[in-house]
Amino acid sequence: RQQNIELQKKSAIIIKKEQTISLQRMLLIVAVTAIAIISTFVYVTLRLARLQKMVNNELNRLNEQLYELATTDSLTQLFNRRHFFESSQRQLSQLQRMADDGAILMIDIDDFKKINDEFGHALGDQAIAKIASILKGNLREYDFVGRVGGEEFAMLLSQCAFNTANKIAERLRKKIAELSIPHPQGAIKLTISIGLTMISKDDKEIEKVLQRADVFLYKAKAKGKNRVVSS
Ligand code: GH3
Ligand code: MG
Ligand code: MG
Repeated sequence: RQQNIELQKKSAIIIKKEQTISLQRMLLIVAVTAIAIISTFVYVTLRLARLQKMVNNELNRLNEQLYELATTDSLTQLFNRRHFFESSQRQLSQLQRMADDGAILMIDIDDFKKINDEFGHALGDQAIAKIASILKGNLREYDFVGRVGGEEFAMLLSQCAFNTANKIAERLRKKIAELSIPHPQGAIKLTISIGLTMISKDDKEIEKVLQRADVFLYKAKAKGKNRVVSS
């Protein structure tokens, strides 16, 4: 009887230990499953974050490309007509706010039709691109230049008194006149005419200023081309 009681006690202890072991096993399974789920979640989150970063970078790159296409003239890499008008309208307002001087140059290649007729359209394009690069290469920090027509350019000079604007226009005219484009029939020479007008404190619309510069450009043409005429 004594032995039976002992046996029953031992078997109760064994049952209790078995229960503890099975509880621990279950806890272990739950813990391992939880760790697996959390690891998967962290992994997926990290992958998604990386993917999102890649998509964002690609979107930014495409946006920049789109902006470039919408604002740049493809032959010359200058501002296109619309972008020049928008930028110069903004700059006009800024100059008025700061009570700063500014000038507009309207630039047109002389007798360009002849260049096309004699040497072909492709060389004409090359000449436009070459002149554009000279104009761009001579900009100061806050100036900009756009291709506003086939062989016409406009330049905005900021913080620039009349004498400086005139000197810049003359320098550009000379640089283009000194340019020669190599060709089997001999070096091709080009000239430009420039209409210069200052932005006055009463100017509100850039279109009006550009029209004024255009009037002086036509005067430069009428006076024999290859010259700067200003107000
Ligand atoms: P002017 O001295 O009075 O300015 O004479 P012009 O011959 O330069 O002026 P006009 O406006 O009569 O002719 C401009 C020519 O420019 C006509 C057109 O064929 C040419 N042109 C316009 N855009 C382009 C272009 O993108 N490429 C080329 N190759 N030619 C162009
Ligand atoms: Mg023209
Ligand atoms: Mg012309």
